[in-house]
Amino acid sequence: ARYDAGRGWYDARLTQYAPLQLDPGTAALHYAQSIFEGLKAYAQPDGSVATFRPEANAARFVRSAQRLAMPPVPQEAFIAAVDALVDADRDWVPTGPDQTLYLRPYQLAVESFLGVRPAHEYLFLVIASPAGAYFPRGVHPVSVYVSEDYVRAAPGGTGDVKCAGNYAASLLPQQQASALGCDQVVYLDAVEKKYIEELGGMNLFFVLGSGEAAELVTPELSGTLLPGITRDSLITLARDMGHRVTERKVSLEEWRRGVADGTVTETFACGTAAVITPVGEVKARTGDFTVADGNPGPLTMRLREALLDIQHGRVADTHGWLHRVS
Ligand code: PMP
Repeated sequence: ARYDAGRGWYDARLTQYAPLQLDPGTAALHYAQSIFEGLKAYAQPDGSVATFRPEANAARFVRSAQRLAMPPVPQEAFIAAVDALVDADRDWVPTGPDQTLYLRPYQLAVESFLGVRPAHEYLFLVIASPAGAYFPRGVHPVSVYVSEDYVRAAPGGTGDVKCAGNYAASLLPQQQASALGCDQVVYLDAVEKKYIEELGGMNLFFVLGSGEAAELVTPELSGTLLPGITRDSLITLARDMGHRVTERKVSLEEWRRGVADGTVTETFACGTAAVITPVGEVKARTGDFTVADGNPGPLTMRLREALLDIQHGRVADTHGWLHRVS
């Protein structure tokens, strides 16, 4: 769909995938007035297709738009656009149990001008891409590098919304992590460089203790980390299972000490793309350590199954998280 200040949103349509024509002065290309979302459609056992909590993505998309001074896409229009695309892709057939259809809604400023101000014209698009298993050879822990040179977000910045610029800034630290043999970057808070925030595209959870008494701790939504929909869903699922879940500050030192003295038994990252990923090796300037001998923990795997079971329609959707598309 297109937007201009006079007409509002108009011209919503389904078209063949094709290159966009953009003017060289397109505002988004210069000032990154650009936001996006990521969600998945899952084939259900009865042959239908469902997305997972699209209203949560729609709401986050509105918040991202507001932060970047863009006109928000109404939530119903966001969901209708995603539904229409999934429905148009009904010849998509999953070729395995982990296959999904990844959906990428995004909005960018397309007005052509060279001054710095909110644009008057926007495009809202959704593209789809089949996604395979994140771990084709079974779940294995990722290694992480704690960045002490770069932060992902500062108070008052854009860390709690999903705008393109956040990811542009994450590429260099990610390159640094890769050069050190690590899969992902752990970001610390910008003020004290002490508290753990999240990975480049996933939220983090720490398991304290084990068995039925195991507790989960996840960094609180401080305003600088992205409120992940997977994070929110797992808090609910863990509480359903009877585990205590606390949102609070967690320092790198607490994590390291907890792993050393055995109080932190598991650590995992979560997000739409990888669902749940155990964290194994941790590299940090202040000393490396390894969580749970680098093996996926039992609560990590139980939560992973619980979430996947709901998404793939293998258990009752008691929270009403699935949205049937076709
Ligand atoms: N943090 C960041 C920075 C992300 O990009 C993502 C992916 N959207 C997440 C966390 C996880 O969010 P979600 O569970 O909604 O995919």
